[in-house]
Amino acid sequence: PVAVSSWTGAAPRQVLRSVFGYDTFRLAQQPIIERTVRGDSTLVVMPTGGGKSLCYQIPALIREGVGIVISPLVALMQDQVAALQQVGVRAACLHAGQPHAERQALCQRLRQNTLDLLYVAPERVTTDSFAHLLDHAPIALFAIDEVHCMSQWGHDFRPDYLTLTDLRTRFPDVPLIGATATADTDTQADLLERLHLDDDALFVTGFDRPNIQYTVTRKSRPKRQLKQFIETRHAGEAGIVYCRTRKKVEGTAEWLGEHGIRAVPYHAGLSDAMRSDHQQRFLQDDGLVVVATVAFGMGIDKPDVRFVAHLDPPSTLEAYYQETGRAGRDGRPADAWMTYRYGDIVRLHQFLDRSDANDAHTWAQRHKLNALFGYCETTDCRRQVLLRYFGEEAPEPCGNCDTCLHPVDTWDGTVAAQKVLSCIARTGQRFGAGHVTDVLLGRNTEKIRRHGHTELSTYDIGDELNKQGWKSVIRQLVAARFLEVDVSGYGALKLTSACKPVLQGEATVELRKDTKRTGSEGSSSGS
Ligand code: ADP
Ligand code: ZN
Repeated sequence: PVAVSSWTGAAPRQVLRSVFGYDTFRLAQQPIIERTVRGDSTLVVMPTGGGKSLCYQIPALIREGVGIVISPLVALMQDQVAALQQVGVRAACLHAGQPHAERQALCQRLRQNTLDLLYVAPERVTTDSFAHLLDHAPIALFAIDEVHCMSQWGHDFRPDYLTLTDLRTRFPDVPLIGATATADTDTQADLLERLHLDDDALFVTGFDRPNIQYTVTRKSRPKRQLKQFIETRHAGEAGIVYCRTRKKVEGTAEWLGEHGIRAVPYHAGLSDAMRSDHQQRFLQDDGLVVVATVAFGMGIDKPDVRFVAHLDPPSTLEAYYQETGRAGRDGRPADAWMTYRYGDIVRLHQFLDRSDANDAHTWAQRHKLNALFGYCETTDCRRQVLLRYFGEEAPEPCGNCDTCLHPVDTWDGTVAAQKVLSCIARTGQRFGAGHVTDVLLGRNTEKIRRHGHTELSTYDIGDELNKQGWKSVIRQLVAARFLEVDVSGYGALKLTSACKPVLQGEATVELRKDTKRTGSEGSSSGS
């Protein structure tokens, strides 16, 4: 192999070609590498496979000293180190399971400055012995992989990561790159603050998957809707169907089989043998559907998955993006299809409330749930909603999602919104969608009588819509953040500060047309 130290001071493009064998930079790699070489720090948000590693590997070669890469997974570190050694880069990793002699040798190389890249686990970086070592070696840069673990707003907070912010204060002149594939805009802002970085240090790219068509439908008879979707768009093709529970996975796989669609179940409760058998069959067969819980998909690299369907919504848009991202890896048209009902979201909120996670975390999760709900209910381009959630620019509607392809008609729902909001205010913000609707419709229920709600000025003022119509208005008001679901109060609806201009007649509310449906009352859509 080449003597790699010779790359010190080289041009990034030359290193890309000579060491890694690629012709051109991808996405924002070039500006990120240039800044790092200059000594500036950066937060990189790119999806998995986007090419984050080169963003720190190349500057580590060009800058004087060793690049320290902090990565939480030993197996992943070892893979990367092996790949780097293959192309002649002097890389090594330091981890807890290592023999003492090996570790000594590494320290020696560090002190002699004969290493280009050193991979370490986060908990080691903050040990005294490692800190001591760092004081004696020139450092090219710090790269923190999975940096979202540093934020309580992220979906995988790890206390170990918090102390890594010390690196910025202890080594103010060493550039740092934080890299992650999953960080919404709140997490990004939090990370920038923790790492003392300006907005212009943030690079978010590569999230758009133009060949995936996004669709969200209202859930009525989910299995039949799914069957129809598969038969009309993906007969005989491979796909993944996500369900929330094991029981539903089993039931759905069996039902599909009975209705002529070849399907196998996959969840953590199946035996190892069966799981690996079903996974193998899915990988080899281009016409098999796997019905699965979230346990399925990690590390599955099947290029011709033609659709990913969600019979239940995941709890965050990060998870949704990751799961739907398994469709259409080959770049050919693919579908991300979801069916959901309001009750699913309420249930997710209630589930959160029972979790014993600390407050900031629960708060963040609730916030994420609202974003997911906003995505489900949007009348705008879904791709734009999704990309904006990750902070990526999306100036034009995409033309390849259900709302672009079949624009939803909207109507002026200001008066309806005012009725709902004032009814909620007058009933003391203590009731859920069902009761509020009953009051608006002037129903004579035991609950209404018990609370004396027939006396309210908002009693029986809602003839223009039926029960389903009002529930839809309420759902859209929650999605648009005029209302919040208070989970500790069993789904009671509360007004937010956004309501004021609506109640005072200073703002209008556009609602989607399907709410205007009157006539026979269908089954309620949950809650
Ligand atoms: P990430 O860390 O963002 O998940 P990687 O850095 O592992 O992604 O890169 C994913 C794949 O893309 C790797 O096989 C890598 O070699 C390749 N790759 C990265 N940058 C380029 C490039 N500029 N040109 C071609 N291939 C690239
Ligand atoms: Zn669109």
